[in-house]
Amino acid sequence: MNSNCDIPSLALPRIAALEPYTPGLQPSTDHWIKLNTNEFPYPPAPGVAEAITAEIPKLALYPNPTAANLRAAIARHHGLDPAQVIVGNGSDDILNLLMRTFAEGETRPSAMLRPGYSLYPVLSAIQGAPCHPTAFDPLVGDANLDPACFAQHPAPILFLTAPNAPFGTFLSPPAIEAASTVFKGIFVVDEAYAAFAPANALPLLARNPRLVITRTFSKSHGLAGLRVGYALAHPDLINLLDRVRDSYNVNRLSQAGALAALNAVDYYHEHAQRIIQTRENTATALRSRGFTVLPSSANFLFCIPPASNSLEAPTVAENLYHFLCEHRILVRHLRSHPLTAQGLRISIGTDSQMLQLIETIDAWTPTQINEPQR
Ligand SMILES: *Cc1c(COP(=O)(O)O)cnc(C)c1O
Repeated sequence: MNSNCDIPSLALPRIAALEPYTPGLQPSTDHWIKLNTNEFPYPPAPGVAEAITAEIPKLALYPNPTAANLRAAIARHHGLDPAQVIVGNGSDDILNLLMRTFAEGETRPSAMLRPGYSLYPVLSAIQGAPCHPTAFDPLVGDANLDPACFAQHPAPILFLTAPNAPFGTFLSPPAIEAASTVFKGIFVVDEAYAAFAPANALPLLARNPRLVITRTFSKSHGLAGLRVGYALAHPDLINLLDRVRDSYNVNRLSQAGALAALNAVDYYHEHAQRIIQTRENTATALRSRGFTVLPSSANFLFCIPPASNSLEAPTVAENLYHFLCEHRILVRHLRSHPLTAQGLRISIGTDSQMLQLIETIDAWTPTQINEPQR
């Protein structure tokens, strides 16, 4: 290698200095119980595989640039107009379009409630825009949305993860409405986990043209590998995002697969109910073992292992993370924030996967773990 060639020095300084997003591990072998990235633990609905297969002979042709059929079906599904819908390569693509459209440099910062989805600050940093955090406390729920705090906020765009990730905290539509109405910029409600919650912000859309709702097929429709998400918003806002998006941002297989999944309403509703039931059973099992388990309206639980007299909470959580890893169970330990470092975020799998998790936890005591290596 030519050592005179310092490529990072040629890049935008903010990109050379960028702290990239760290996704959860995706192990390359199947011998894991994977409870670390909130994926759907069941197969896709009958009809999804066939719809994808039927597109294969047409792969030489570009896909529909706007995913028009899928937009129309999503609009119908939510009782909206197709002009209020844009589809993306996962909802991450949508979040990126929103950030690129509204945030740039010091004078156009973004905002988020933190802890929240940790991709927002990365997308913001790419725009050279600071991402201003407002502290989110999972113990106070709707009180995180004090309108007085949002009325004064100068950011042109704000991201709210509702239900919250990584805690699973439910935020009620009236509280979201009160905050979003007084906020002067674009108020994005990231509803990746709406299928597992008792209510969502959809009814607020008609009353606030600055509100955006993002959804995904990844968590509740078992299509994380296909990459399909969407935004619902005022047609003027959708029009802006369409100018920024790649011409063919959703591939042919993804459009067909998502369309078939959208048609299987009963299948996905029934499986979401099953996941909710498994979540509640798992929470009960963990609480009976001395864990603090936050109430969750998502397909994961945030839980803090019982205190150990000689160890700090983050150390106990780290110990359990490693113990589960040794037993081929992957969960998430988010060390970057003091609140999240105390516990583990555990995705809800099938009943039998959760049973195995509980049995493994029963075999664990924090003191038997050596210093974690990483
Ligand atoms: C998983 C997740 C996303 C990303 O979803 P994709 O559609 O797979 O890109 C967005 N927001 C939150 C809060 C998530 O947890």
